[in-house]
Amino acid sequence: MKILFNNKTLIESLRPFNDLGFVPTMGGIHRGHLSLINKSKKLCKKTIVSIFLNPKQFNNKKDFKSYPRNIKNDLKILRKSKKVDFVYLPKFKDIYKNHNKSKITLDKKDKILCAKFRIGHFEGVLDVMNIFTKIINPKKIFMGEKDFQQLYLVKNFLEKKYKTKIIPCRTIRDKNKIALSSRNILLSKSNKNTAAKIYKKLKNIKRVLHSKRNILDFLIKQKKQLEINFKIQIDYLEFRNIQNLKITKKKNNSRLFIAYYLNNVRLIDNV
Ligand code: AMP
Repeated sequence: MKILFNNKTLIESLRPFNDLGFVPTMGGIHRGHLSLINKSKKLCKKTIVSIFLNPKQFNNKKDFKSYPRNIKNDLKILRKSKKVDFVYLPKFKDIYKNHNKSKITLDKKDKILCAKFRIGHFEGVLDVMNIFTKIINPKKIFMGEKDFQQLYLVKNFLEKKYKTKIIPCRTIRDKNKIALSSRNILLSKSNKNTAAKIYKKLKNIKRVLHSKRNILDFLIKQKKQLEINFKIQIDYLEFRNIQNLKITKKKNNSRLFIAYYLNNVRLIDNV
């Protein structure tokens, strides 16, 4: 496993390879990240993982400050997996040095779900993914369905511009079905119990959704109840089609999306 600390070594090291699988991360490596790496190892000749906490995609300074960072431990886990060929650890200037101010904007139709609540977040994500794709030129990029809207926007944006394919990977959960996330380290045991109960409740809501006459109305009521019962603040609880992310009433190709705050930690999931 070779560690690449800057763009010069990155470009030199990657030159011989044209079948690269790329797994972008912000560190805090967990089994969710490892599942993406496993898939890359299966489908590509070489796998490169990046660890870069991109300040431009944080719309909230506190969130950026408290985001878990432990490069030493991350490298230990990645090395132990024996599946990673390169780890890219760029500094801010490696990414943004020759970069003009981003002109990326979201379409009005995309300003939904997290984009509505985290202003500028996805513009930052698309910008950094665009720069990564230019520098690394991967054949495939592996991304998790946990961050479904991110996967959807990055796929639509990059596949129009480059030959690179975005490969969706299913959400990995712990034994209590909580979606793994680097931010989970900021949760107490009792927070985790609550998150597990919320997951169960989401599954139930999804199961009964179609027996309701007015789904929108039902979800508004469920959102209120969840907020009261679990003492959480919910940004959204919405049922959407996974091919176009439009609000839907149909069962096929649809999921229930949620974003909520637990102990000031923002969690997202979709079931
Ligand atoms: P992050 O480090 O949180 O930016 O995540 C890096 C990549 O891992 C993104 O494509 C995420 O969607 C993916 N990811 C994060 N958590 C999970 C999970 N529990 N299951 C599958 N993929 C995940």
